[in-house]
Amino acid sequence: MPSEKILPTDVACRDLVDELVSTDESLLSLPTRVHVAECLRCQAELASYRRLRRMMRTLANAPIDLDPMLEHDIRDLLDQLDQTSARRIPARAAATLGGIAAAAGVIALAKRQRRATRLAI
Ligand SMILES: [Zn+2]
Repeated sequence: MPSEKILPTDVACRDLVDELVSTDESLLSLPTRVHVAECLRCQAELASYRRLRRMMRTLANAPIDLDPMLEHDIRDLLDQLDQTSARRIPARAAATLGGIAAAAGVIALAKRQRRATRLAI
């Protein structure tokens, strides 16, 4: 049985784009590897995807300063796009209300302990 030789022209560059983007280079199919080995355009494409993957890995570990209002702004925008009328308390207001509730809790606890101390005397 004669071995089949895969020629670079058997596979078109445009047919490889999905495979080049989505697959690790070591997992490329044999026809794709043969094509890429002889096609400068696909080699350049593969190199750019390799560079992009490397940069994305770097970004995954990069510290990011997030605006505390970002989540709220995104949710508001999604609500506007979704045409929903969700009534949501703004993040800053929620944080302030949470702080006030915590302070009220501390004051109530302090008063309770003070009263308990007075009754014990
Ligand atoms: Zn090609």
